[in-house]
Amino acid sequence: ADRKRMTMKETRESLPIFPFRESLLAAIKEHQVLIIEGETGSGKTTQIPQYLYEDGFTADGKKIACTQPRRVAAMSVAARVAEETSTKLGNEVGYSIRFEDCTSERTVLKYMTDGMLLREFLGEPDMASYCVLIIDEAHERTLHTDILFGLVKDIARFRPDLKLLISSATLDAEKFSKFFDDAPIFRIPGRRFPVDIYYTKAPEADYIDACVVCVLQIHTTQPRGDILVFLTGQEEIESCEQLLLDKTRQLGSKIKELIITPIYANLPADLQAKIFVPTPPNARKVVLATNIAETSLTIDGIVFVIDPGFNKQKSYNARTGMEALVVSPISKASANQRAGRAGRVSPGKCFRLYTAWAYKHELEDNPVPEIQRTNLGNVVLMLKSLGINDLINFDFMDPPPHETLVLALEQLYALGALNHLGELTTLGRRMAEFPADPMMSKMLLASEKYKCSEDILTIACMLSANNAIFFRPKDKAVHADTARQAFFHKDGDHLTLLNVYNQYKDIPTHSQQQWCRENFIQSRSMGRAHDVRDQLQQLMERVEIQIISSAGDTVAIRKAITAGYFYHAAKLSKGGSYKTVKHQQSVLIHPNSCLFEQNPRWVLYHELVLTTKEYMRQTIEIESAWLTEVAPHYYKAKELDDNSGKKMPKG
Ligand code: ADP
Ligand code: MG
Repeated sequence: ADRKRMTMKETRESLPIFPFRESLLAAIKEHQVLIIEGETGSGKTTQIPQYLYEDGFTADGKKIACTQPRRVAAMSVAARVAEETSTKLGNEVGYSIRFEDCTSERTVLKYMTDGMLLREFLGEPDMASYCVLIIDEAHERTLHTDILFGLVKDIARFRPDLKLLISSATLDAEKFSKFFDDAPIFRIPGRRFPVDIYYTKAPEADYIDACVVCVLQIHTTQPRGDILVFLTGQEEIESCEQLLLDKTRQLGSKIKELIITPIYANLPADLQAKIFVPTPPNARKVVLATNIAETSLTIDGIVFVIDPGFNKQKSYNARTGMEALVVSPISKASANQRAGRAGRVSPGKCFRLYTAWAYKHELEDNPVPEIQRTNLGNVVLMLKSLGINDLINFDFMDPPPHETLVLALEQLYALGALNHLGELTTLGRRMAEFPADPMMSKMLLASEKYKCSEDILTIACMLSANNAIFFRPKDKAVHADTARQAFFHKDGDHLTLLNVYNQYKDIPTHSQQQWCRENFIQSRSMGRAHDVRDQLQQLMERVEIQIISSAGDTVAIRKAITAGYFYHAAKLSKGGSYKTVKHQQSVLIHPNSCLFEQNPRWVLYHELVLTTKEYMRQTIEIESAWLTEVAPHYYKAKELDDNSGKKMPKG
């Protein structure tokens, strides 16, 4: 154990931040607010909280919070710091992410998502239990981080004992400094080896295939060094993993071993940890990662980076209020961060799967802050419950577009969360209790009225599994489709999900995994849905909603869903295509939906996904009369004029 501690100590002392330990602590003592800028991997996230702890900041029992934009980062970094301090995760070092609290009375170093710290303001507006707040990965400019900026700046004024650290991996330090009344900047010089950049000569038709080819080329022609591939999400990562497995199997013993390790938000913690296992001498590791590996997580040993140039982003149309996840080109700043990941341990190479021309002319310089491209309903609700009524004059680093704010207020009014003076209603106050989208919160609360809270609770958890319930291996696609169809419910996908969960929960625990395998269902996602359900049930009980079953009344269930998601109504138009009711946008039912071939006249969708087409994902059939019933301020019977009531034929 002693030797291990030595090694850990040496590792910690080899980080670029270590020589600055004393001067950093001195600067923190001298200034209330400090901006910290340092290259990814220099040790900001794992070391700074430990330095403060070792220096006695938490001696009086007050905590240090360190926010992360991503849940995986919060979990993984907390696990690392627990290991470095030889403590059990959840004791002195813990983490808190939505629906998962791994902290205890003893916790003094608390890693958490920025959204969770924001929620903590609701219970403790002066943050009295904290001595230091670290807003980490500030350059990511997530919505929650941006809102935190305004809130922490404000409380720092009346809590002179509170220290505020804003830490960032890129060159936004000046901007942060300016926002925080010219707070000083502490720079940690990085160590970065040169990285050669290669571009493709022509655009790639299929970047997943191109990634596979590139990985194998590196593996067979290049010297030692691990590979990091940036993909946009779980689905892409899984298909890339499958293709690589097939190829390496074909090549067999002709090549050295290739260890494939995925990393994305829904991956369970034990598998996440695999990316950090050092690669054995005769093998090569390839990490298939989402944007999380851009700056939040540093994986040692990466020498090659493959960058297709995309990520998945929320995009928002402030005119129509439509929000969608879109695979979009990254910015130049992101491309350079990604390339930088190849140069941490030695000179590296970055293969960009786009042309040099595209880099120069098609990529924006910087990513657009999330606050400019998202629905603000959730944060407006939260700020209102904090008593911040004048949102127009809130201290935003970059204010959201005016129409986005107005729309959020209108939507909250339509949901019944605000009255006509813009004040929080009793319903709105209850909605704010849920760490969820206002539409989801409203659906949960409406389930009380429609006497189907148990069913809605399950549906909410299954929806939060992020479309990762069904599993469709390429070589067994037909079987998987048949298995999925067996769960189909004629009224729509939400009820299909309810079916899946209800069958799953009746299977004895020891056979659940096998049942999932046989039915092409992802058992991890079910496990997570089950955990989320427990948490959400507690929240429901906190707002005094009795958990009762509708006993199969699918009209009641669908009305409760409609009460939350009524903006997402669409009506059949020509040829199986739909038009959203309010804004006449053309959308289609997703081919995976159980309503795909039925084309009911009126549907409600959970979310929109933009690929080559605009798809509604998770849809149910509704009746137009329900819309005026649940949202009389929003829909007028006239605009829903619907005389035929019959289903239209397709084509
Ligand atoms: P920064 O926040 O400045 O980007 P970090 O504090 O995250 O830097 O990383 C410092 C070092 O800790 C890196 O070498 C990184 O590889 C290592 N590290 C971070 N998390 C883990 C983990 N879960 N397992 C192993 N090493 C880790
Ligand atoms: Mg970090």
